[in-house]
Amino acid sequence: MTARLERVRTLIAAPLLVTKPVNVLYLTGLDTSNAALLVEPDRARLFTDFRYVEKARLLGLDVTPVSRNLFAGLAKHLPPRVEFEAETLPYASWAALHEAGIELVPRSELLENVRAAKESGELDAIRRAAAITNECFDRLAEERFTGREERALAWWLESQMHELGADGPAFPVIVAAGANGASPHASTGKRTIEPGTTVVVDAAARFEGYCSDCTRTFATGELPGELARSYQVCLDAQQTALAAVLPDASGRAVDAVARDLIAGAGLGELFGHGLGNGVGLEIHELPRLRPESDDVLPADGVCSVEPGIYHPGVGGIRIEDLVIIGEDGPEILTSFPKELVTVR
Ligand code: ZN
Repeated sequence: MTARLERVRTLIAAPLLVTKPVNVLYLTGLDTSNAALLVEPDRARLFTDFRYVEKARLLGLDVTPVSRNLFAGLAKHLPPRVEFEAETLPYASWAALHEAGIELVPRSELLENVRAAKESGELDAIRRAAAITNECFDRLAEERFTGREERALAWWLESQMHELGADGPAFPVIVAAGANGASPHASTGKRTIEPGTTVVVDAAARFEGYCSDCTRTFATGELPGELARSYQVCLDAQQTALAAVLPDASGRAVDAVARDLIAGAGLGELFGHGLGNGVGLEIHELPRLRPESDDVLPADGVCSVEPGIYHPGVGGIRIEDLVIIGEDGPEILTSFPKELVTVR
């Protein structure tokens, strides 16, 4: 914990008020929905309400109990000038501190950038989460798909994660068959999976707080020509982009590798989302691999590489691997085959 705080101290000009729960968790180990951590040069003070005080003390934190309405009385504990997390501090909280005379200096994505490069213990947790996810996909490929509801398969997958020792799913499993798969953030529903189409399965176990992520697209029999062709284009784009995942590469450039390839096949309009993003305590974090990204891939970062091609009214394809951004090239944590797998 202390090393993380030391790192943050080198990056700030005034005491930093950390209020985003996942960042408080990262710096203190305390999982809370209502706390503010003030990082000063010589100490770090936590302000939280009664519900979390005991847990914080057990972690050995310097904790000051405050009311449930955290920001109402917080100003009297703060120095006259603090940096705050510009993306996440709500306006009402900002106003409460401002009206109490605190000078507020916005900081953007400071902790998010620190968290982007993982420590070895974090990488181990992500490797374990990914290994559980891999085993889930191996088991899934043996299951019957056709005639079952999407949600039945999704719940079955989540139960496998629990059985294999995960904390649980990192997000509700997505199983999107046929035309439903043409929506990148499809909602898994009561639809029955039909033969002769694609089924996009996006599933990820969480282990010791850390997420993994994997998407595979299965075929339930012979595919319509456009889906069969798009699968090969998507696979080619995914594998080519993977090779470009290196420390100091720009997120925009790696995205462009896949995007140019898909556009070259005349399918550019059907790939409307980013290529990938960082994965860690959160399922979407830094770096961003997107056309508008200014992020640089950090060594020992973890990111997804997940191009997709979506044919409205017909079906979707997405292929996603999770990788560690290594000096010697990407360490691919996803092991399930990427060649098209046909299920029953
Ligand atoms: Zn995913």
